[in-house]
Amino acid sequence: MPLYRSDAFVLRTYTLGEADQIVVLFTREFGKIRAVARRSHSPRRHTASYYQPLLLLHAIFFGRPTQSLFRLNTVDLVQSFRQLHEDFSLLRSGLYLTELLDATTQEREPMPELFTLFQEALAELAQASQPAVVLRLFELRVLMAIGYTPQLLHCARCTRDLQPHERTFSPHLGGLICQSCAPAVRQTFTVSAAALEALRQAMSSEATNMPPLQVSAAGHQELERLLHAHLTVCLGRELKSYAFLHL
Ligand SMILES: [Zn+2]
Repeated sequence: MPLYRSDAFVLRTYTLGEADQIVVLFTREFGKIRAVARRSHSPRRHTASYYQPLLLLHAIFFGRPTQSLFRLNTVDLVQSFRQLHEDFSLLRSGLYLTELLDATTQEREPMPELFTLFQEALAELAQASQPAVVLRLFELRVLMAIGYTPQLLHCARCTRDLQPHERTFSPHLGGLICQSCAPAVRQTFTVSAAALEALRQAMSSEATNMPPLQVSAAGHQELERLLHAHLTVCLGRELKSYAFLHL
């Protein structure tokens, strides 16, 4: 039976019978996979404690390519992101990023660039200098990676080029709309020129590095509203962990 090895993050786990659990992993090489692992009777019992989010693991698992479930063989800890497990606020942010990654990825669809982005986001988050900025940039990167880049250059309804003063955002259309279209579209809101400029700059930089997001506190709130509304429409639901970010 083929043996696979990959760096991986745990997205979530659920129990399977009395002794086993299913571990949902996001792997660098194979994308999201599900694997059966021992829960309590493991000969290497300490490995069960690695089956939790926000740890970079190296996993060895096996199974037939046609089966939906793999079996975990061994798991080693590569990086612990200790700060995320010691600070409740950072932990909540990390768990939100994990749920976002889970909600936006399909099983067995390799997305190595997204894996790298996630790893970088956790490392940035652990530095704790600007945790909210890390969240916004990762939200934006995920949207771009899954093909839902916010449309900021052309009207998302009629495709006409936008003028600088046309800053009405429609989450349902996934972008800005022009003045002519605005009266016909419901549930829109206006975004400031400064917030839009910050968003455009973040979108135009290299996909694999996290640029600084130069924006005021008010501008940041606007970006959070825009990205959250857009993501919620794309996913068709609100992520559970989002509500805990502002406790
Ligand atoms: Zn239009």
